[in-house]
Amino acid sequence: MVVAATQPLMSLSVYGMGRQATLLTGPAQLGQRNMLPLALVVLVTTLVAPLTRLLLLAWVLAGLRLKSPPRHLTVLFSWVEWLRPWAMIEVFLLGLFVAYTKLVDLASVQVGIAGYALGALMLITAAVDASLDPQAVWDALPRRRELPHNVPAGRALAATPLSGHRTIGCRTCHLVTTDQPLCPRCGSRLRARKRDSLTRTWALLLAATALYLPANLLPVLTFVKLGQGQPSTILEGVEELAAAQMWPLALLVFFASITVPVMKILSLGLMLITVHTGSRWRLRERTRLYRIVEFIGRWSMIDVFMISILTALVRLGFVASVYPGRGVTAFCAVVILTMLASACFDPRLMWDAARRPGGE
Ligand SMILES: [Zn+2]
Repeated sequence: MVVAATQPLMSLSVYGMGRQATLLTGPAQLGQRNMLPLALVVLVTTLVAPLTRLLLLAWVLAGLRLKSPPRHLTVLFSWVEWLRPWAMIEVFLLGLFVAYTKLVDLASVQVGIAGYALGALMLITAAVDASLDPQAVWDALPRRRELPHNVPAGRALAATPLSGHRTIGCRTCHLVTTDQPLCPRCGSRLRARKRDSLTRTWALLLAATALYLPANLLPVLTFVKLGQGQPSTILEGVEELAAAQMWPLALLVFFASITVPVMKILSLGLMLITVHTGSRWRLRERTRLYRIVEFIGRWSMIDVFMISILTALVRLGFVASVYPGRGVTAFCAVVILTMLASACFDPRLMWDAARRPGGE
């Protein structure tokens, strides 16, 4: 991460002029062009969130080796889990790849040490996540409160249904326990359903739908080559890739930037409406759809990262320059709002609604 953040990410040279960009140049350039919110999103998702997550995890795992691990580790480990979807190194790498292919014909482009470091970081993070057993960490961490007596501790508790008690699942550490205000294992507030789920999801989804139009109609970037260039929208960017015969990449960007946002908005809308009508139609498939929407959301950021990299790198005045357009802020807002909307939606409400008398 240190290498990735400090060393050159990509360098460009054309007609003897050259430019280098690091991971920080993109957000810095976006900030200078009055796109501060966008700059912050790129900075958080590519640097702050992954770095914080790794440091917190290292701190927690180191703390567990102590004779009596301090209590604050429990809170820190819940942050490790919450940060997971917001650390987007792998999505950024795809954005880097798209940016690279857009530049190869124009100039000589080289991926710097930081690019390789990010690739290695992505593999190592994947290996860390595959080796990490969050349940084992939760069990080893100091408990926030003592478990009520006669209730077995840890995993045994999660596996055994408690007869005669209403049970409740903790959203932070996934412990299943008796209905009580605070989770005995991690100390989070326990709720049977996410708070104000429908209101919040509707609000975020409507905001995302409203921004969807400017996100697709306004230009996201202007690529000027030898003094010529026109602003292009998200869809025109895909067309450009297709025109250059880069079919797999064109399909990938089309899927991530056009299909996924539309699918997310439509799916969440469908789920919300079926909760209101109390529909019993395909509950299992709808729940599966929710998991897909939740997982796939972050991949739409490819275009945002690609634009951030191009803005950072292609600043050669008349010869070649890239200017980000207003559309990219709207597009990024759509991605973030739909991610938040799917995080606010509680799929269990669909099952509750189906159980209500008078449902269809
Ligand atoms: Zn918990």
